[in-house]
Amino acid sequence: MEKKLSIVVDRCPQNHRCPAVKVCPVGALSQKDFEAPQIDYDKCIGCGKCAKLCPKKALVLT
Ligand code: SF4
Repeated sequence: MEKKLSIVVDRCPQNHRCPAVKVCPVGALSQKDFEAPQIDYDKCIGCGKCAKLCPKKALVLT
């Protein structure tokens, strides 16, 4: 079964540019100001690169 990415907003300090936005190979993550990133599920392929990068474990692939 394909894995699905989710964002645990409570874990994201929302005080910095999300580094995961740039690492996504398909441009599925976007960020408004310093808010937690948003996922475009039409683009996300569930690769997990962003989830590995986030030090707060705010991006979770399940
Ligand atoms: S799981 Fe992969 S494709 Fe999906 S948002 Fe994260 S980096 Fe992008």
